[in-house]
Amino acid sequence: MKTLSLAPLSLLLCLMLLTACQPAPTQTRIQGSTMGTYYAVTLSDPFPGGQVALQGEVDALLARLNQEISTYDPDSLISRFNRNAGKAPMPIPASMARIVRQGMDAGRLTRGKLDVTVGPLVNLWGFGPDKRPVKRPTAEQITQARERVGIDKLSLTPQGDHFLLGKSIPNLYLDLSTLGEGAASDEIARLLERKGVHNYLVEVAGAVRSKGHNDKGNPWRVAIVEPSDRQGAIEDVVTPNGMALSTAGSYRNYYELDGRRYSHIIDPATGEPVTHKLVSASVITPTALEADALDTALMVMGPEQAMAFATEHKLAVYLIEKTDLGFAARHTPEFAPYLVRSQP
Ligand code: FAD
Repeated sequence: MKTLSLAPLSLLLCLMLLTACQPAPTQTRIQGSTMGTYYAVTLSDPFPGGQVALQGEVDALLARLNQEISTYDPDSLISRFNRNAGKAPMPIPASMARIVRQGMDAGRLTRGKLDVTVGPLVNLWGFGPDKRPVKRPTAEQITQARERVGIDKLSLTPQGDHFLLGKSIPNLYLDLSTLGEGAASDEIARLLERKGVHNYLVEVAGAVRSKGHNDKGNPWRVAIVEPSDRQGAIEDVVTPNGMALSTAGSYRNYYELDGRRYSHIIDPATGEPVTHKLVSASVITPTALEADALDTALMVMGPEQAMAFATEHKLAVYLIEKTDLGFAARHTPEFAPYLVRSQP
């Protein structure tokens, strides 16, 4: 009698059982370039129409945002406002007004450390759409550029379903670059919520929105990277869980001229790039727009003033300073619950 070996059959059965027990992978991820940087969206809920529909809707949203606030696009609304030598207010949509309003509010809160009219100085130091300077700007050039700076020269007035954006000097230059990534992150999160997606991680460069859990049922984790050229070196890990995290730094966007390092963070009070030892500031707030505004302001303030400001306003803030011994990180008590190392 011929004996039938059960081994291959049982192996097949095991494999079938394993396949049946394992949930189908539900994570969807898209990524791409925008605003001179990158974005990535990861979902563990289904998106209506799947990955292709998600990519199409996110790309359309980002293209519209660029069309509104990119100073790198001469045809954008902001570029037309900046070119407009007259003082006649210009109609702008509510989506753009929200970003301008955040810039103005954060400007007042931080007593001008964040200033969305700082563009002439940003450009003078070679960090805008203009080219890098081949030599340091003169004191006279800095003074002239500073005369064009100040949010008191900017106005925003609601009118029906849109807003009027005005200026009190003809050559005012609005630069919302510092808020663009936060605005994009929030808008993508809003799109996902509208589509019934409640478990997601949205990253637009340093501006992150996360909610719910990943496909393994764990809260999303985000790294605060070491402010150095060491690829992948991690300083800490956080779970923003339902909140927004934004990080600003002076360690990636800089250049060296005559042996000195110039950062893209400009102090509107001096008209010059900052030179203190604070190299990274992370903020957690309900919206990425707010966090994106505050992290840059903290970078302008420097380590001591930034920590005093964060303490006064009870903000969840994480700062990294450069010291003679390496990097030193510290945070406010409000930031502690988000740190993975302090979680049970
Ligand atoms: P953040 O810390 O968030 O902001 C720093 C930036 O804010 C500086 O680079 C400067 O522009 C400005 N700033 C400096 N000091 C102050 C201050 N005191 N107050 C307020 N603002 C200040 N870059 C390209 O190279 N090519 C592109 O095509 C391009 N397109 C863009 C389109 C859009 C819609 C936006 C918003 C930005 C674009 N950028 C582009 C700019 C680029 O991505 C910027 O480097 C980025 O927006 C700055 O963000 P950050 O996270 O590097 O720094």
